[in-house]
Amino acid sequence: MDPGLVADLTTVGLWWVRVPLVEPFVAAHGAEHAREVVLVRVTGADGGIGWGECVALSQPTYTNEHTAGAWRVLADELVPALFAGRPLDLGGAPMAWTAVETALLDRRLRGVGMSLAEHLGASRASVACTAVIGLQPTIETLLSVVERRVADGYELIKLKVAPDLGLDALHAVRQAWPGLELAVDANGSFAGRADELAPLGDLGLVYVEQPFDRADLDGHARARRGGLRVALDESIESRADLERAIEAGALDIVNLKPGRVGGIAESARIVATAREAGLEVFVGGMLETGVGRALALAFAALEPCTLPTDLGPSARYFADDITAPFELLAGARLAVPDGAGLGVTPRPDRLDAVTIDHVTLPAPG
Ligand code: MG
Repeated sequence: MDPGLVADLTTVGLWWVRVPLVEPFVAAHGAEHAREVVLVRVTGADGGIGWGECVALSQPTYTNEHTAGAWRVLADELVPALFAGRPLDLGGAPMAWTAVETALLDRRLRGVGMSLAEHLGASRASVACTAVIGLQPTIETLLSVVERRVADGYELIKLKVAPDLGLDALHAVRQAWPGLELAVDANGSFAGRADELAPLGDLGLVYVEQPFDRADLDGHARARRGGLRVALDESIESRADLERAIEAGALDIVNLKPGRVGGIAESARIVATAREAGLEVFVGGMLETGVGRALALAFAALEPCTLPTDLGPSARYFADDITAPFELLAGARLAVPDGAGLGVTPRPDRLDAVTIDHVTLPAPG
């Protein structure tokens, strides 16, 4: 990391926030009713600030990192190491690190008036969105949700599925909309049940995301040989993971989650590796608040991200986002922020309202 980004820091502030979700988000790994994230704000001697978001979920179900752990890692390890100029061992805390890295870069880019998207080399002013729909209680409910999303203009609908939940519903959606661009995300739930996955090959899916366990590259390679287009999400936590998956022939498509894979530099490396390998890329979501969504949108604007992003407007997640809300544009698109840095900041009154813990760590000396 560039020491110049750190040399004149005066404080690092941490905010543990809890933002109620519009509706619980249910996937194979569990349900989230409110979004708890840690926001990081760096302040420099010139008064310049930068923000970042740690997108770990509140429970260590989907990854080992979780909100409470990330809070401790940031306060006790990462920020003190940053101030001391010590090398950062980031192996266990890629999401906490991403928050710090984002805040440092946000501050620098604000200082020079450049947007993050421009810094990354992005060319798109807006990106197409996928409507991601969680497991629904009944088929009727699902059909009505899909109907609304189609009316909103979404070109790609992605359903969360699991072997005993959602497959009948998936067939019902296909029957109701024969020409709909449809994808599914299994969050690894077909582990040991590959036979039940095979019939999905008849549904004309754009992709099947993460049917098997994150470590099961051979299983994903077999699914591809069986005719499915496979997207990997949980399996890809770093560029090294992506290189192994490419070597195993395990994927057609990368779901890139910039907040989860170890940060901005690592995400850029993943995009470059995917492009060299001829893979398609889309940017996935981690139920980010506006701060994390701005980071993810900057990546979604990159040219190799050929498929619609899972990111959605603020209203998909929150009645009242922390930043100014991201609105859905015509054709179910999101504008890529073009202001300096992330292009968004938390609104102070909203931040106060959702904060459950806050600490300001001063630079030593
Ligand atoms: Mg996924």
